[in-house]
Amino acid sequence: MKVSYSSLEAFKNCPQKYKFSEIEKIKEPKTREAVFGSYIHEILHWFYENDPDFPTLEELLDHYKENWPKPDEFGWKNNKDAENYLNEGIRQLESFYTANTPLQSVILELEKHFILDFDVNGEKHHLSGIIDRVDSLGNNRYEIIDYKTGKRVPSQKDTDKDLQLSIYALGLLNFWPKLEPKNIDLSLYFLKPGLKVTSKRTASHLEKTKQEIKEGILNILKSDFTPTPSKLCDWCGYRRRCPVWHDYYVQTNLTGRKVSLLVDEYFSLQKKNYQLNQRLKEIKEQINEYCKKNNIAQISGKTGTLKKVSGKRITYNINQIIETLGPLNRLEQVLMVNQKVMEEVLQELPDSFKKIILAARKEEDLDSLN
Ligand code: SF4
Repeated sequence: MKVSYSSLEAFKNCPQKYKFSEIEKIKEPKTREAVFGSYIHEILHWFYENDPDFPTLEELLDHYKENWPKPDEFGWKNNKDAENYLNEGIRQLESFYTANTPLQSVILELEKHFILDFDVNGEKHHLSGIIDRVDSLGNNRYEIIDYKTGKRVPSQKDTDKDLQLSIYALGLLNFWPKLEPKNIDLSLYFLKPGLKVTSKRTASHLEKTKQEIKEGILNILKSDFTPTPSKLCDWCGYRRRCPVWHDYYVQTNLTGRKVSLLVDEYFSLQKKNYQLNQRLKEIKEQINEYCKKNNIAQISGKTGTLKKVSGKRITYNINQIIETLGPLNRLEQVLMVNQKVMEEVLQELPDSFKKIILAARKEEDLDSLN
């Protein structure tokens, strides 16, 4: 059997997802974030491939814009969406270039493919992977760098346990068995905030990683691939064909008659939701009052605990804000017009003023149900 870090992770998150992708070989539609991430990887690969004649920032950005994926590859929501992604990429590349030029290390490998062999119950299995970049830092020290375009930067503790980085360390050691793990820096480079998180592994940690991979393979071999629905379903590209979601999509395969039933259900749920929220508010107020009176910071029922959270409500004197920030041209940054309040004010304004305000208003079409 062939596995990879992502297929092991897919199995851990949901065996059914693994089955769709690895056994039935159904391609998961890529999200825009995933296509964007792959494209940024390609651009950085192109940039470092030109070692030692690295392109200038201008050349890098020109290459990025010229090869920007076609609209059908990205699945943009609209032109604005496409422009936002394009500009985000420019911003990430500019800050990456500024922080990493001139290069302080020597690039040894780019997109280095590796295969690790595992013996599970007498059968051979393979784990393959690709390391974005391997650098020499001098003094027999090396760095594995994996680029990330996602938003979430893990803590140091999580990075120290990151399975993907441990697998990369094993991948490199497979080529250079004499290398000591302590001489390998394992880095995740987050392009969005421009942050690099670096970690190390010990030989014993890597032994545990091998065990973890073997257990993962064994679990796949034994599995009946029962789906395990979770929050991750919201990002799963197989949702439309997943048995867990079958009824949901049958219901949403609508005819005119069914839609009117759904509209009724929507309003009935909305009403219940309103009542529930009102009740929650009332309960919270009563508990708060009791805790305040009795100076209690934490209170428990049989099913949960509420804790006192302290904070401050901050208000500003609006006239002083206008007087101070107006002449500095910073007013717009801090003031936002509240649409609901504006509508109320408009009702009361004389027509001449109303006209001026309405002329300053910009309307955009938003397609949503209300
Ligand atoms: S939709 Fe959810 S349950 Fe179905 S395969 Fe995807 S992750 Fe698993």
